[in-house]
Amino acid sequence: GLHISQRNITVSTCGIVPRMYDLAKNKKDTVSFVLGEPDFVTPKHIIEAAKKKLDEGCTHYTDNAGILPLRQEISRALKQYDKVDYDPEGEIVVTVGGMMGMYMAILALVNPGDEILIADPSYTNYVGEIVMNRAVAVPVPVYEKDNFNFTYENLKSRVTDKTKAIILNSPCNPTGGVATRETMETVAKVALEYDLYVIYDAVYKHLIYNDTDYINIAVLDGMRERTIYVDSFSKTYAMTGWRLGYALGPVPVIAQMTKLHQYGIMSAPTTAQYAAIEALRNGDRDVEMMRGEYDMRRRLVVDSFNAMGLTCFEPLGAFYVFPCIKNTGLTSEEFCTRLIVDKHVAVVPGTAFGESGEGFVRVSYSYSIKHLKIALERIKEFLDELKKG
Ligand code: PMP
Repeated sequence: GLHISQRNITVSTCGIVPRMYDLAKNKKDTVSFVLGEPDFVTPKHIIEAAKKKLDEGCTHYTDNAGILPLRQEISRALKQYDKVDYDPEGEIVVTVGGMMGMYMAILALVNPGDEILIADPSYTNYVGEIVMNRAVAVPVPVYEKDNFNFTYENLKSRVTDKTKAIILNSPCNPTGGVATRETMETVAKVALEYDLYVIYDAVYKHLIYNDTDYINIAVLDGMRERTIYVDSFSKTYAMTGWRLGYALGPVPVIAQMTKLHQYGIMSAPTTAQYAAIEALRNGDRDVEMMRGEYDMRRRLVVDSFNAMGLTCFEPLGAFYVFPCIKNTGLTSEEFCTRLIVDKHVAVVPGTAFGESGEGFVRVSYSYSIKHLKIALERIKEFLDELKKG
């Protein structure tokens, strides 16, 4: 008979986020803290550069790896910012967003049944991407006391002879944590000890605050040959809808990813690739402006939560805060459901990102200050009413 893939049926549809989103959508005055997407429109000069290329008739497929001038710009930018050197011809592939970069990296690495270590809590897509590739996602609990970073013991205790890779995401969705050099060294130590790959998701690397150090794990001894670096234009340049990202790594892995592109997508969107060249060449000031704006919002949200008694570890990156809601006596799901029903404010339960997210909620501050203030005011009312019982 007609049977569709059982395995893909078991990939959950990231249950809670869409549910919150649906609940939010149906109420007119709902204010949402849910989306992990810049509220800015792509900077004008980037849009103009893309339009110009369309007018010139650049409407065709490109190389499977993406156009060479873009790969050259990526190489230059990484050399400058990350202090890593990747050859545009062979070590860089342009992807359909960071998501496709992650997906293709996993596809290129795993055999059926291989295990990939992911932080718990972590970005909801990882489990789906791993399962769709016939591999197994192994959650490694990380804790607030460690700033939600991996520790040596935690990582090591989950390694088996099936372990193939560690996914490292810094700055982190959902916690806003930034991995320190020490954490990078810890991950590197485990990767070297057990001969593992590291898939390094750095899509938020330009959103780091308080002059916190940024480090690319590939600079550590022995790591370049086992690191697949995944980045995206989505968050850095407010380009989510353009669907463009890239992956860098050792030649054999990038060669596989590029070959698989031929069958999956042919090439990333051509117009977006031209836009991306302009972003890398002339977008630094836009990034700085947006980072400044996110930083203001970040401080507003963190200070407000702390003042309300929802203690909030200071997120140093991305655009999320992950306040602890344990002292309300509610579970994460109860908190979120009641908040949306009573006050029409949508946030995401920490458990959407893994079991260890229990007791936390994720709040995105990629919204205007005006919007954030309304939502924060309503959360304060909600907490006051909870206290009164
Ligand atoms: N990684 C992380 C941690 C993310 O939060 C996101 C977007 N939410 C992505 C990757 C992928 O984004 P995109 O495909 O738009 O680049």
